[in-house]
Amino acid sequence: MFSAIFKNRRFDDPEAEREFVCRNHRRKTDSRVFFMYLAPIAYAAHIFLDFFVAGEQATQFMLLRLCVVCPGMVAIAYLFHQHHRKFGTENLICAYLLLPTLNVLYMCVMAEGIAADIYPFGVMIILYCCSAFILPSYRFMVRYSMLFIGLFWLFFPFSAVSHEAAIAHAFFQIMGTGVNVIGIYFLELTERKQHANEINLEEMISDLEASERNIRELYHEAKKADRAKGEFLAVVSHELRTPMNAIIGFSEIISAEMLGKVEPDQYREYAEHIHNSGHQLLNIINDILDLSRAEMNKIEFVKQDFDIASALRAALASCRANADEADVTVIQVEPFLHDVCINGDEARIIQALVNIIGNAIKFSEPGGSVEISTPYSAETGIELMVTDFGIGIAPEDVEQIQKPFHQAESAFVRNNGGLGLGLAICALIAEAHGGKLIIESTLGVGSSISISLPKDVVISHEANDANDAGCAQESHPPRHDKSYA
Ligand code: ADP
Repeated sequence: MFSAIFKNRRFDDPEAEREFVCRNHRRKTDSRVFFMYLAPIAYAAHIFLDFFVAGEQATQFMLLRLCVVCPGMVAIAYLFHQHHRKFGTENLICAYLLLPTLNVLYMCVMAEGIAADIYPFGVMIILYCCSAFILPSYRFMVRYSMLFIGLFWLFFPFSAVSHEAAIAHAFFQIMGTGVNVIGIYFLELTERKQHANEINLEEMISDLEASERNIRELYHEAKKADRAKGEFLAVVSHELRTPMNAIIGFSEIISAEMLGKVEPDQYREYAEHIHNSGHQLLNIINDILDLSRAEMNKIEFVKQDFDIASALRAALASCRANADEADVTVIQVEPFLHDVCINGDEARIIQALVNIIGNAIKFSEPGGSVEISTPYSAETGIELMVTDFGIGIAPEDVEQIQKPFHQAESAFVRNNGGLGLGLAICALIAEAHGGKLIIESTLGVGSSISISLPKDVVISHEANDANDAGCAQESHPPRHDKSYA
């Protein structure tokens, strides 16, 4: 029954069992050694008992105690302390306990009268002390108790112990041994459970450490690969820009017939196509270069004070041709701040605006309109907001499209081209100014995309003080509950 309760797969493995025994021994060594040096003193103190009850044999018993048993116990304690590996822990404990036990049994046989009835209690005292201080394994406890009790009953017929005293001893031995064995058993059970938990914990910790190391390595590899990719893209796009400029420049000269008439006329049209495509390609190359520079923290922002209205005008001017071609009207709506001065990189802000307005035009239906507004609030700052009433973006795509090379599902259906780099760069530009890109959109209804800049970058907006209250009210307009008719 006892071993059934012990059933734990961990202890079926002899290696694990050995490890438990070693660890358990290490934990108890100090207290065991202390007890083993202390017990001979306690045992020697029993010379008073010899002196008062042993009568004629007192001297013999005392000499045996002091000169043989106690030095023997100290010697074994020393061996246990220094050489327990060589002689074996259990062997030494057994020899150590056997010495006083045999001495007690010898005295039982030799003693007469009342002394014979008293000495057998020594066996019980040794057993109790052993279980309380040495804390052996429960198996050892069972074996050792059996041996002691067996020896006692072996010596009993030769002793002068009375029958009444023998019955009393038998009762104490059964009760004492039972209590000891059960106590040690539950103690060991707890120790085994604790050991199993410790091992599980150690395994878990080493697994975690291994996976942490793994993740760290993977992270460094990914970082290296990412850096290599960034450097590659930066070099390639930089190298591509020079020939692209030549292509764009020469195709422009040809299409504009700067050096004379180009015939037949188709050649001029082809040159125009080359020029437009070259521009598109150059924009893509520039975007890739910007992103790879940003990833390597090499992108530079040249900040100075500039007028936001003129930046918006510049952005609108560069989108005009596209708007005309797509038959989309771009209008400025209230609140539109005219004399707001901002501290930032004007060229980058224009770049971001061109991209957002370009997208709004691209994703609007022919005949549609795109609205530009600049709501301002003294608490949150200014927003450069572009609203369209085109295809809109599904909520699950809103976060994705701010990452490089991501496009919304709705845009695929339209097949409007593009690489999915523009908004990632817009977000970068907004963040470099301490702001953020805000996208609010409803699929099939339209989108509001704004560059939100914090109030610290707004240098002045005096001309609009009168407008402030209105701006503050409109700083968070309900963007899609308008009528888009
Ligand atoms: P590109 O337009 O070159 O693909 P962007 O980063 O500018 O790259 O845009 C990423 C995607 O976000 C677009 O492909 C499109 O799916 C979506 N998107 C951006 N602006 C709008 C808009 N105004 N309306 C609908 N979808 C948009």
